[in-house]
Amino acid sequence: MVAELISVGTEILLGNIVNTNAAYLSEKCASFGLSLYNQQVVGDNEDRLADALKVAIERSDIVILSGGLGPTQDDLTKEVTAKVMGCELIEDAHSKDHIISMLKSFALKENITENNWKQAFVPKGAIIMENHNGTAPGIIIEKDGKSIILLPGPPNEMIPMFEESVTVYLNKLQPEILYSMMVKICGVGESKVETLVLDLINGQTNPTIATYAKTGEAHIRITAKAKNLGSAKKMVEPIVETLKDRFKDNIYSTNENEELEDVVVKELINKKLQVVTVESCTGGLLAGRLINVSGVSQVLKQGFITYANESKMKLVNVNESTLKQFGAVSKEVAIEMAKGGIIEADADIGIAITGIAGPNAEEDKPVGLVYIACCYKDNVVVKEYNFNGNRQKVRDQSVTKALDLLRRCLK
Ligand code: ATP
Repeated sequence: MVAELISVGTEILLGNIVNTNAAYLSEKCASFGLSLYNQQVVGDNEDRLADALKVAIERSDIVILSGGLGPTQDDLTKEVTAKVMGCELIEDAHSKDHIISMLKSFALKENITENNWKQAFVPKGAIIMENHNGTAPGIIIEKDGKSIILLPGPPNEMIPMFEESVTVYLNKLQPEILYSMMVKICGVGESKVETLVLDLINGQTNPTIATYAKTGEAHIRITAKAKNLGSAKKMVEPIVETLKDRFKDNIYSTNENEELEDVVVKELINKKLQVVTVESCTGGLLAGRLINVSGVSQVLKQGFITYANESKMKLVNVNESTLKQFGAVSKEVAIEMAKGGIIEADADIGIAITGIAGPNAEEDKPVGLVYIACCYKDNVVVKEYNFNGNRQKVRDQSVTKALDLLRRCLK
């Protein structure tokens, strides 16, 4: 089934508000297995809204509109939809009672104005969805095999209404379920990932395979549509196995909700190891990512920020001569930072980052040059990276690579 969204509101067109309803509703459509090919944003204008609706009805089975259900003159969604669908608007006693009780609860009874009753009018024969957080009821009009769903604009009204009523409706309409798994890869570039799965992508119908790029990572989502969860899993799992074969230990997780730092912390806990971070250009971002994970206190011994050369010497004993000979951004300094961190924090494993985040080059070295060192017992691994992008991007990529290096060293 094909769905389409229409977000109504001039303020969305002008960029005064961010269209978070569209993001929420798109994700929901995908989770119901609805194909979403088009979205529209239209201002509070009768003719343009009618045109948008006609186009959507022509090409889609389900049209979901959000916004424009309020009491004022510029709230036109219901009136325009009723006109386009050829439905008469009639007063709904239950909606009227609800408006009275809502406005009473806001202690506004004496302020009820004539235009409030506009919200009690609904298209004849429509399904009415109660709004527990506002006065405008939600409305579903079914006609000629099409469903038009009208939802209020404020997200704190729209989302609860969707969860409570629209999901029940869509479950009946679309009995198939959608199941997906995410294969998360670090250490292989986005374009190489795509090249390695192109044969699978080209042959896809159900399940579908899609790649997504994230800073320093590539994700592959495999999604199957089936009558039940068991059948969907049977369709997805063989593809995940094929990907495991192709990407081997570059895959850090197949769990959608698991981030790189979750995997690292889990592994540290399993191995009962304590880590110390020593950061220069990332200034605490690595420690911050680790601290995103609850339970990290068991394994994060300390985080040093050693941005200045002086702090590298003072806090983690980097030799002045190493700094002079090789410069602060060098593999030699990265190694001394990691080793010094282990000693100072009395940790088992040390991870250090030193690099040039930009915008200016330093020590005659280019922006984006970053060294990451990981020390564990007598083993030292140090990597050189040349990242592209601005200061923030270089720092974010450095953190991702440091987490990945830690993950690999823990293996
Ligand atoms: P109201 O009764 O509040 O007038 P309504 O259904 O008429 O509700 P709108 O008037 O279109 O909705 O929007 C009301 C508010 O809801 C907007 O000012 C905005 O804060 C929020 N809103 C509307 N549409 C969206 C959207 N697409 N994404 C995020 N927020 C939205």
